[in-house]
Amino acid sequence: MTKLSLKDLDLKGKTVVMRVDFNVPIKDGVIGDDNRIRQALPSINHVIEAGGKLVLLSHLGRPKGERKPEFSLKPVAGHLQSLVSCNVHFGEDCIGDQARKAVEAAKAGEIVVLENVRFHPEETKNDPGFSKQLAEHGDIFVNDAFGSSHRAHSSVAGITEHLQPAAAGYLLQKEIEYLQNSVENPKRPFVAVLGGAKVSDKIGVIENLITKVNTIIIGGGMTYTFYKAQGLPIGNSLLEEDKVELAGTLLEKAKSNNVNIMLPVDSIVGREFKEDTETKTVAQDGIEDGWMAMDIGPKSAELFGDEIKDAKTVIWNGPMGVFEMDAFAKGTFAVAGAMSTATENGAITIIGGGDSASAIKKAGLEDKVSHVSTGGGASLEYLEGIELPGIASLTDK
Ligand code: AMP
Repeated sequence: MTKLSLKDLDLKGKTVVMRVDFNVPIKDGVIGDDNRIRQALPSINHVIEAGGKLVLLSHLGRPKGERKPEFSLKPVAGHLQSLVSCNVHFGEDCIGDQARKAVEAAKAGEIVVLENVRFHPEETKNDPGFSKQLAEHGDIFVNDAFGSSHRAHSSVAGITEHLQPAAAGYLLQKEIEYLQNSVENPKRPFVAVLGGAKVSDKIGVIENLITKVNTIIIGGGMTYTFYKAQGLPIGNSLLEEDKVELAGTLLEKAKSNNVNIMLPVDSIVGREFKEDTETKTVAQDGIEDGWMAMDIGPKSAELFGDEIKDAKTVIWNGPMGVFEMDAFAKGTFAVAGAMSTATENGAITIIGGGDSASAIKKAGLEDKVSHVSTGGGASLEYLEGIELPGIASLTDK
């Protein structure tokens, strides 16, 4: 990475404003999965141990520019206190007097968590005045919020116009290094596994990876738009009618690039979109009217698994079926298992966040892959070859 890193900076006596992604699930003031907070600890502890004062900025949920108590970061500050050995203060706002007083009250070697930046509508507009107010809290900016780095928002990007040096935190650096190395310098065979509901979300990724990978495995709801492009029957399965032509073009493009595109050879179909519906397994030409495909079938799971196990680099984004329902989760778990075996065989295996990250956790295999990204949207945009605003705006080395 050619951007300034947290480790390059002398932090003693400095106030560091750090954007983190503390967008964790909270119910009735209790934090569910605190993974995102824990992932920021290496950067947080580094600043504290180096004698800096740390001001943390984050968003939580989508309060749409209003102060809504259910989206307060106060419980997060309380939770962070249980994970670090220094004092954690909380500021009831991220700008203005309340923020300033909270920052002043903290000493070097202590932390201040400021209230949700999205309580102000200016945040998502990347408003220069708001960015400047956030910048006034410190001497150095650090972005460690990979999951928000695809957003050109004030606390992610705009702030760097007013606060330099702007450096990458350890989590951001780790995320980028995994993605960058795998895409630009992959050990081969390099396999991309793409699933999820919509072709439209993955078009950019397919187009970018088609010149880089050896194999693209396609599963999930988007399969059936590709089926349609090949003239196969799809019954009531998910279809993006306006993407059928494009799906056909992508299949052609893969062929001319010598990229192996694997689509499911069988599917598990159900009568209705519900857990206890009647189901059966059918071949790729066997999806009848009145049935919808909701998971890849066992033969596909085996074929996909074999391809993944033999790979040396694998990136996975998107479930193979409606994995939230047990009846349609087998294909996704088979891919999760194959990812784990590939890792044991020496492959670099990356989970691109979002639903695939939930699936690998549900399978209990999150420690058996090389990297689970904390940012679904951000890693997808990175894989599309798009420059992320939260990274582009950091100081060059
Ligand atoms: P995405 O957000 O595009 O990654 O899509 C994830 C969602 O796709 C999950 O909620 C899955 O339940 C859903 N999904 C995966 N396969 C299918 C399918 N065959 N039919 C309908 N939904 C699906």
